[in-house]
Amino acid sequence: MVYTHLDRARPISSMNKRAFLKLCSTALTSPFISPLLSWATGDKLRNWAGNIEYGTEQSHSAGSLEEVREYVRKQSKFKVLGTRHCFNKIADSTDQFLTVKTMDKVVALDPETRTVTVEPGMTYGQLCPYLDSRGWALHNLASLPHISIAGACSTATHGSGDKNGNLATAVSALELINAGGDVVKLSRQQDGETFRGAVVGLGALGVITKITLDVQPRFMMQQHVYENLPFRELKDHFDTIESAAYSVSLFTDWQKERINEVWLKNRIEQGRTFDAPSEFFGAKRATKNLHPIAELSAENCTEQLGVPGPWYERLPHFRMGFTPSAGKELQSEYFVPREHAVEAILAVERLHDQIGPHLLISEIRTIAADDLWMSPCYKQSSVTIHFTWKQEWPAVSKLLPVIEKELAPFHPRPHWGKLFTISSEQLHFRYERLPDFVELSRKYDPDGKFRNEFLNKHIFGTVS
Ligand SMILES: Cc1cc2nc3c(=O)[nH]c(=O)nc-3n(C[C@H](O)[C@H](O)[C@H](O)COP(=O)(O)OP(=O)(O)OC[C@H]3O[C@@H](n4cnc5c(N)ncnc54)[C@H](O)[C@@H]3O)c2cc1C
Repeated sequence: MVYTHLDRARPISSMNKRAFLKLCSTALTSPFISPLLSWATGDKLRNWAGNIEYGTEQSHSAGSLEEVREYVRKQSKFKVLGTRHCFNKIADSTDQFLTVKTMDKVVALDPETRTVTVEPGMTYGQLCPYLDSRGWALHNLASLPHISIAGACSTATHGSGDKNGNLATAVSALELINAGGDVVKLSRQQDGETFRGAVVGLGALGVITKITLDVQPRFMMQQHVYENLPFRELKDHFDTIESAAYSVSLFTDWQKERINEVWLKNRIEQGRTFDAPSEFFGAKRATKNLHPIAELSAENCTEQLGVPGPWYERLPHFRMGFTPSAGKELQSEYFVPREHAVEAILAVERLHDQIGPHLLISEIRTIAADDLWMSPCYKQSSVTIHFTWKQEWPAVSKLLPVIEKELAPFHPRPHWGKLFTISSEQLHFRYERLPDFVELSRKYDPDGKFRNEFLNKHIFGTVS
């Protein structure tokens, strides 16, 4: 494993879950805590979770298309930074960073084509209230709204739902600046395969300067949480459980053969609210708002208990304005074909003794297949098995290969923005359009201006 995880002798790594959570919980209830502070404190430049110290602090901010073009023409090597929410080094650079954070406006909302076009620095947290107030919605959202739309789509970020594609499937057009500083415009309608190759671009094709997303009429939702669903019910009724709502998330610590929390997010269609039964496959309906990590305060979570609310305040688990998840953490996630969901889940469950000491919580979600070349759901309806780890990289780095080995019969594809140890040979085997993607990258970036160590290792198969 080549990632440099600078723990700076954090005492956290030796803490048990209770002590760790106690430390987190005070900070969690105050808006924007420590991970964001590391960006601003004159500390080294780090990612959101603080586990990656970036390879340079040289950063340039561009505020317009022309400034981006001028910068791209002048630089020989750099990376664009979004909101820094990746846990691995996909966004890292040893040369220079470009940020387009101030380019965060809506360019056009077109009711005719049902699309919205935004600048690359915009986050879902900024876009969603804007859309909602004008009567529109996105089809799905990730667990948090804090991430940039360009960065999220570049790594195939996803939410949950049998019929919901990942967030990149909503992209209908892109404008990007290639390595020569030229403007490239690609659309779903006109550019077929090239477009499908470019959407989940991993930051390798150029600087996204505009991104167009499909919208649909706004809708209301309700969220119910159930506690303690036995694994045997999951085993026997996985498909029914997963199709019980528009978006379903299962949280487990892999202990006691149960799903700790089932989050059901239902759309309210034609004013008909969802009458949630008190029991769901043996799980009991919660009587108060819960955090996915039950020990943590639910204050930073979206409203539950069936209270109706707009789509953008129910689809994410975490509220804008508060720190999502646990803060000091690591994350990994594997996509396996939907038909192997139960086998894969049980394979991980067998490792519960090894996983338990280092885990904060796991989440299981389903995602519809798509046709985007570098999407982990390419031509494959998927179940994702996600791990939020304590920030204990030495232990987690030893566990990941064990989990990956257990999942190997199902050919797991890793989340591009999270931690994994799967070899590049395996990645090439599992992402069948990877050679086409390499060719496309070479067209837009012949000299590797947008490449970094991560891309060289995992995509281009060379050492920088
Ligand atoms: C607490 C937490 C919860 C999360 N929950 C989920 C979840 O529910 N589902 C999920 O799938 N993932 C989840 N993630 C992962 C996250 O969505 C991804 O890591 C995503 O890429 C973050 O976007 P970003 O802008 O922060 O990316 P960054 O880390 O800043 O960048 C990611 C990549 O995008 C590229 N990029 C960014 N902007 C541009 C641009 N303008 N042009 C070209 N390339 C660009 C970068 O160069 C880099 O390669 C979570 C992460 C955290 C920290």
